[in-house]
Amino acid sequence: MSEPKALLAVHGHFYQPPREDPWTGEVPPEPGAEPYHDFNEKITAECYRPLAERCLFERMSFNVGPTLIAWLARHDPETYRRIVEADRGNVARGVGNAIAQSAHHTILPLARRRDKITQVYWGVKSFQHRFGRHPRGMWLPEMAVDLTTLEVLAEAGLTFTILSSEQVRGSLTRGAGPYRVRLEANAYFTVFVRDRDLSNQVSFAMPSLGPADRWAAEVLRGRSHLTLLAMDGETFGHHHREGVDFLERLLHPQPSAYEVVTLTEYLRAHPPVEEIEVIQNTAWSCAHGLARWSTGCACTPGDSRWKLILRAAMDLLSEEIDAAYLDLAHGRIGNPWRLRDEYIHVVLGVMDARSLLREFADRPLSAEVEQRLLRALQAQVHRQRMFASCGWFYADLDALEPRLVIRQAARAIELIQEATGVDLSDGFRRALALARSERTGKTGAQIFDEIWASRPGARPPSPA
Ligand SMILES: [Zn+2]
Repeated sequence: MSEPKALLAVHGHFYQPPREDPWTGEVPPEPGAEPYHDFNEKITAECYRPLAERCLFERMSFNVGPTLIAWLARHDPETYRRIVEADRGNVARGVGNAIAQSAHHTILPLARRRDKITQVYWGVKSFQHRFGRHPRGMWLPEMAVDLTTLEVLAEAGLTFTILSSEQVRGSLTRGAGPYRVRLEANAYFTVFVRDRDLSNQVSFAMPSLGPADRWAAEVLRGRSHLTLLAMDGETFGHHHREGVDFLERLLHPQPSAYEVVTLTEYLRAHPPVEEIEVIQNTAWSCAHGLARWSTGCACTPGDSRWKLILRAAMDLLSEEIDAAYLDLAHGRIGNPWRLRDEYIHVVLGVMDARSLLREFADRPLSAEVEQRLLRALQAQVHRQRMFASCGWFYADLDALEPRLVIRQAARAIELIQEATGVDLSDGFRRALALARSERTGKTGAQIFDEIWASRPGARPPSPA
């Protein structure tokens, strides 16, 4: 008898920050992306399009961030269509291989429960809009996890997520699992565990590994359980030029070497039996709890204290935006949080904002009040985008990604001002004053002022 064949699953997390200017909805030209207009275009050419053309989405597990897939639908409809078709093909053969992602790449354990609910709900609805079915699994941004987040996923009808081997405690004798994680009382959630070392070899040492199928056959030899490689999808073609060929060979081994499966396919035949524990407030890309996105840590060089200041400023601003929204909704909208959740249908362009508002209004609203409520709701969208984790991921404050989230904050401030007359800009500016860029010496307040002064509404009217 020959030994059982090794099983391999590969999961790609495909994501870009929301690069769109919050005023125009268009992505401005991005320095460094040349000869492309911006990084979405560059990474589409290097990664998303070739992977789709070679039908590689069909053979892997994947998630595409809701804001990225919205961009693809608009700017590269053919690639978008191929990605959706990849999942449909798997559905036709049994079970779809795409999973959802919470909406804006928020570090969910750092978000309040109400925001977790909104992020997860918006992620589920976006997935349904794109793939035409309810998702089974959800990708957690940066794999950042706590039990409340898993509970929110379970309440949204999701059944599994993916974590990294260093984020769990217990015996991993079944490789990638899946395993059970105990929530409250008798509720459980399913977790696949990626092989951290092998995943990192692909992500960071690909050029030294040789042909992918030979490398995989070698490292999987003797393993009878499922092994999961999970990494950023951009590893293939963007971070490593040879990555598209690497992935193609990885997913098409000699029949005798190992077998490639998707996570959903495997889960259907192998429900979880053994239990493991989740180490809360951990992530795959920071060894210091969640400090990379909160207090700052050694993951990024230099003085990272600006991260704490930026987060505190965003948290404070969120509370003020929420207070203004609740004030405006008081006596008019019975369930303002539910309204916020359902507003995703307006964002997706499948529902008219006024019709939605009328569904939630306790009594007929004047056109003027409707207009103000709609602005406050749109502010809630930008308030969610303020927390895209990329804003905190890198070393310096005065860089593209922190500016992206501060721009979202500025737009939210402007909309709240239009909706309620309340000006939140002074408080936000003060809260950012102590954050400083080592690279350019600019403070967070100066960066905000640059953005604030250059917004379309700030331009003085041209003389008649
Ligand atoms: Zn760290």
